[in-house]
Amino acid sequence: MKPSHPDHAAPPDANARKALAPVICYPVETLPRPDLATYRAARAGWTRTTTVLVPPRHARCFTVPAGHFFRITSVDGPQVGDLNLWNANNLAERFYSGKTRALHGTHLSSGDRMWTSHPHLRPMATITDDTLDWYGFDAFGGAVHDVIGTRCDPYTHNLLSHGGQYHHCCHSNLTRALAHERGLSLPEAETHVHDVLNVFMCTGFTRDTGQYFMKASPVRPGDYLEFFAEIDLLGALSACPGGDCSSEHSSDAAACYPLQIEVFAPVAPPQGWMSPAPNGYDRSHGL
Ligand SMILES: [Zn+2]
Repeated sequence: MKPSHPDHAAPPDANARKALAPVICYPVETLPRPDLATYRAARAGWTRTTTVLVPPRHARCFTVPAGHFFRITSVDGPQVGDLNLWNANNLAERFYSGKTRALHGTHLSSGDRMWTSHPHLRPMATITDDTLDWYGFDAFGGAVHDVIGTRCDPYTHNLLSHGGQYHHCCHSNLTRALAHERGLSLPEAETHVHDVLNVFMCTGFTRDTGQYFMKASPVRPGDYLEFFAEIDLLGALSACPGGDCSSEHSSDAAACYPLQIEVFAPVAPPQGWMSPAPNGYDRSHGL
């Protein structure tokens, strides 16, 4: 974190340098903006095809065909979920949290997209509804559904707790769920687990030290985040051992609740929709 007493003196023009206005790294005006009205119109008359209940401190996998929707819903009590997504036909193509953050910002909501890893880099899911969109940013700079946290994991816990062994961090939950779903060994499955979308989690960076913070999620039973599958998806969702993440994770101390996943088949896909092709870069890399 940035030192409060730096080793090096500021130059005479430090204030002028600091006063320069920021420039958005990736102006997204050139990206095709999803037409939410068209997506939402496709929900009329849809059929629920799958319901999965994710038990607290565990994860479950689910599949969503391209052109279908899925929802993650809070049931019973406040709970955050850690979401991994893969191309169901190629686990090497998976959610790219960092680039999604660079394109859409630190927290996602309706109209934002989840992008896949290089060399594919295409939308894999579009967020079509978010009942927590009223929250915006609070006075601390907190917001919900972040792509800044990675996932709670037993390795970081081991470092910070001087040797602790905890087995129900989201990283381990996702690993077990994927191993079970695809018949993989735990070490094989673990290589596919990646940085998540933190569904319902309320997070930000402290203004003074820039540290990652969490606070109690505002989620209430019935709240949901809804997605449209742009490609065939395999998902895994962990009900984080942190519960609503108001105090701590990587332990069994917090109250935890299940999360519900539902998959819906529309009568017809959104008008004019086509599953996006892999990225158009030719991959010659200058040779
Ligand atoms: Zn977690």
